[in-house]
Amino acid sequence: MPRGINLASKMEKQLPAELVNFMWFAGEIAHTRGERIYLVGGVVRDLLLGQANFDLDLVVEGNAIELAQQLKKLNRGKITTYPRFNTAKLQWDKWSVDLATARSETYDKPGTLPSVKPSSIDNDLSRRDFTINAMAIGLNPGYYGKLVDLYGGRNDLKHKLIRVLHEKSFTDDATRIWRGLRYEQRLDFHLERKTLKLLKRDIPMLDTISADRIRYELECILGEKYPEKVSRRAQELGVLAKLHPALKGNGWLAEKFEQARRLSSPEPPEVGLYLALLAYSLTNEETERLISHLRLPKSSAQTLRDSITLKSKLRLLATPGMSPSTIYRLLEGYSSPAMVANSLASESPAASQNIRLFLNKLKYIEISLTGNDLMRLGIAPGPHIREIIELLHQARLDGEITSKQDEVDLVKRWLD
Ligand code: ATP
Repeated sequence: MPRGINLASKMEKQLPAELVNFMWFAGEIAHTRGERIYLVGGVVRDLLLGQANFDLDLVVEGNAIELAQQLKKLNRGKITTYPRFNTAKLQWDKWSVDLATARSETYDKPGTLPSVKPSSIDNDLSRRDFTINAMAIGLNPGYYGKLVDLYGGRNDLKHKLIRVLHEKSFTDDATRIWRGLRYEQRLDFHLERKTLKLLKRDIPMLDTISADRIRYELECILGEKYPEKVSRRAQELGVLAKLHPALKGNGWLAEKFEQARRLSSPEPPEVGLYLALLAYSLTNEETERLISHLRLPKSSAQTLRDSITLKSKLRLLATPGMSPSTIYRLLEGYSSPAMVANSLASESPAASQNIRLFLNKLKYIEISLTGNDLMRLGIAPGPHIREIIELLHQARLDGEITSKQDEVDLVKRWLD
């Protein structure tokens, strides 16, 4: 073990007391079981960077599931076990901790999931993506707080570098290409020179990755604070084209993403909205290719298709003097992110305004009378009821009537 630094006081200062206590107990219990336990991965990186991250990932040289079962008794939380992977998740109050059994991995074929077997912390760290994510902190008594840094992760953090652990890293798992760009842009780091070379060399390896894994990476990117930074870099390196050759990570996209954030603030924009903006310039066929390349779930696929249909209606939506009920009819039924994307992307202020009118007001307008009320007023049961409801809705949308009494009066007038 390297003599290294001790991060116990940093942990105390930066992490919530409840999590610190939990880790301390985890170390004590692992010790009585004759096991070693470590805090690993992103949280160690962020601890050293002084950034908030409370997603604890623990790795046990031993049996993570058994240990988790024992730890569960401490906080009477919920446990979920994944025997196939030898991992467990503990959840209590607002906290969630992942426990994994230390493992080594071998890749039989590039891009496929690796074969895994229980192993030591050293081997567990050696399978990781980047040096800054390959550090651990000991939690056992006598070892508590000690940094395990076998690949110079701390030094790379200091120099703001993203570095792979070995030459075949991107070949083994090309999702690391996307991960590398994500960390580089999130942290304002740089891909280390050789890593950048390897990354460029291995871009074709992205073809070995399943649609589901690529989609997951894209979702992670769109979940970042500034996804446009990643798409810009991905475009520059020729990685974005691997999602679809027609995608652009340009200034226009950056501007639209920024507007999307302002619009949905204080919440971040829905991933579907970012996706619709990213795919905005694609044609019908190109969109369909992207949908199948990423095996997008139904709702996201629908958003992209709706976005294209709406794009073709923008000119109509810009017609001056349209009544609210006409706007409603044009927009009814489309997914909200597709509408927002079009309101942001449209070059016609009138079309954007009409979409916003629908989203902010028209879609909430309802009538008060029900089918039963109408029958009580003397309308015969049958398809008529639906038609009258629609006419009332239209009158409400256009502001011709504003109350339940207005609706009753209007129906009575129609009956006369
Ligand atoms: P984030 O802040 O984005 O959540 P994280 O580092 O916690 O970052 P996770 O995706 O939760 O990222 O992964 C946890 C850890 O597992 C990483 O820090 C890294 O050590 C390792 N890891 C994840 N994905 C890979 C991969 N594809 N190849 C190698 N190691 C990986």
